[in-house]
Amino acid sequence: MIEEYSQYVDKSIIREIEILAKRLENVKILHVNSTKEGGGVAEILMRLVPLMRELGIKVDWKVIKGNKEFFRTTKKLHNLLHLPQGDTLNSYDLVNYLQTTYENLREIDTENYDVVFIHDPQPMGLVVKKLKGQRWVWRCHIDTSTPERRAWEFIEGFLNAYDAVVFHLPEFANKGIKIPTFIIPPSIDPLHHKNVELDAKRIEEVLEKLGINREKPVLLQVSRFDRLKDPLGVYRAYRIVKEKYDCCLVLAGSFAPDDPEGEEVYTEVINATAEDKDVYVLNLPPDSHIEINALQRHATVVLQKSIKEGFGLVVAEAMWKGKAVIGGNTGGIKSQIVEGITGYLVNTPEGAAYRAKQLLADSRLREQMGKRAKEYVRQRFLIPRHLRDYLLLTCFLLGSKGLKFKA
Ligand code: UDP
Repeated sequence: MIEEYSQYVDKSIIREIEILAKRLENVKILHVNSTKEGGGVAEILMRLVPLMRELGIKVDWKVIKGNKEFFRTTKKLHNLLHLPQGDTLNSYDLVNYLQTTYENLREIDTENYDVVFIHDPQPMGLVVKKLKGQRWVWRCHIDTSTPERRAWEFIEGFLNAYDAVVFHLPEFANKGIKIPTFIIPPSIDPLHHKNVELDAKRIEEVLEKLGINREKPVLLQVSRFDRLKDPLGVYRAYRIVKEKYDCCLVLAGSFAPDDPEGEEVYTEVINATAEDKDVYVLNLPPDSHIEINALQRHATVVLQKSIKEGFGLVVAEAMWKGKAVIGGNTGGIKSQIVEGITGYLVNTPEGAAYRAKQLLADSRLREQMGKRAKEYVRQRFLIPRHLRDYLLLTCFLLGSKGLKFKA
């Protein structure tokens, strides 16, 4: 229940949530995304939606369907929105996207809702079904600060039909957006299995089950197998560290149904690291929350060396467990890591190796940074704040039109 969060956040935020939830009790809200598990969006919705229901809000979560070709197109779009890469959407991609959107328009009922939150580009085209009086929000989880031009024009074609857009950070809202724009960073849930306290025995059991060496310090990165997460860069950093420290590297990941590149990247990582017995490449089921929790708690040094990152929930997850994270100097990671205070920001594998050696050498430094990191997350990135922001936004969108909203 919402009251349980008062052990982590100020009681005033809990009261605000209760007041806002009461006002929204006649309102029907829908969230739509492209996968029920795997990746940060699903991770957030699987916590946020039940919490909203407990508060008496009528909320549903629906997932669009698509074949591998559709998700190849949308992964290409996702990558192009993150950064130009000498390629662009072609006419096949456009037809493919529109065809699957058309199929989902028939499958997904959006008519019975007052407010519809569409997450990321995959279900974005559903907005053509928007009814008069409804409020539609595009919730973007991507760093769109430097998108490839045609990919952004594609997004804009749908965006103007929305009533509002939400980004994680102000710099993601590129110029020229004509609809109201809001900034709401995401969150982690301290009551989720992934983040709750674990005792040493439980951690030990998980490590044993996963076959991880417990004698050597562990460098860890938890990520979908995705090139933008730079797993091979992390491996290079580990090789440099290994010249001085006898440590292990754990690359824990999983496949998400809406990311068809995962298997290719997994194979690349397996091939690159095959000779090294101290490297563990774990392909875990997407609901391995306790396993990820235990790995993050056990790790000596946590890395998230992304090249581009919308937010990077894994950074907040590790910081919440008192870890100093070495993160790629990009996007949402920059909003979580305060350089030299709550962790380190790096641009290269060499930089990551340098910082990892520094942390491995100094347990006091790790402890002090980890403490500050946890507090930083507590103040900014826990679920009550996120929920409050969504409820406020919903009240704002409905209130301004005098809909079913109880004033
Ligand atoms: N995750 C997981 N198992 C894995 C890899 C990732 O449970 O093997 C979770 C991770 O703990 C985090 C989410 O998936 O909660 C990833 O979110 P993030 O924002 O870091 O990255 P995204 O995948 O959305 O790009």
